[in-house]
Amino acid sequence: FVGTPSFLMTLINRAEEMGHDVRRDFALRRAWFTGEMLPDRLRRTMEEDYHIATTQAYAVTEPGGAIAYECCQKAGMHLMDEYVVEIVDPSTGRQLGPGEIGEVVVTPTHNEAWGLIRFGTGDLSSYTTEPCPCGRTANRLVAILGRTGDAVKVRGMFVVAKQAEQVVHSFEEVSQFQMVIGRRQQRDELTMRVELKDGAIDKQRLAERMSERFQSLCRVAIDGFEFVESGSIPRDHQRIVDTRVWE
Ligand SMILES: [Zn+2]
Repeated sequence: FVGTPSFLMTLINRAEEMGHDVRRDFALRRAWFTGEMLPDRLRRTMEEDYHIATTQAYAVTEPGGAIAYECCQKAGMHLMDEYVVEIVDPSTGRQLGPGEIGEVVVTPTHNEAWGLIRFGTGDLSSYTTEPCPCGRTANRLVAILGRTGDAVKVRGMFVVAKQAEQVVHSFEEVSQFQMVIGRRQQRDELTMRVELKDGAIDKQRLAERMSERFQSLCRVAIDGFEFVESGSIPRDHQRIVDTRVWE
């Protein structure tokens, strides 16, 4: 299968509704995904429940297709030699370094007739220069984290809703969350509003653990926690609320 993960999942669900046993009736062994983000949970379902070996690639139509691809390590996507790929601050176009989140900007070098220079994809990612155990020396895009609109800058660093979700959802105690970005004395402040499944747990301990994991993944510190009553955060809420006023 080549295509988006959600389309494959739709096919699988439809086949099961029609009475097929997907593992037995289809010789579906490998899937190469592109075109949308591959959530970890969906990947596990494909691999563990359906025994489909999955790999993904990052492709952008305008500069010419696949730009980065996963190797057998499945730990980020190696950049292809045919493109100059930069991660930039979307507001200034300035290049960012390894580990910093910004917009993916692509210049194809393999097609001289194309003439596309620094194409802004609108996708957010970061890259790593760490050597990959597979032996390839190309830098890797860590993951596509969202679109430029899904993120806010807090103290100069992007906080991406999807990434925060990944951190918070690793804590079973939490049922809902929302990040509120405010500003006090010329400094951005990130407050994490949290609803708990069980209000009787040790909140301070949970806050410490969440802070630590959040900072190591999102590289921004949480300034404070607000534990709210169950039901205070609407189910279809925004993950990030920006209350900053720029005067
Ligand atoms: Zn590799």
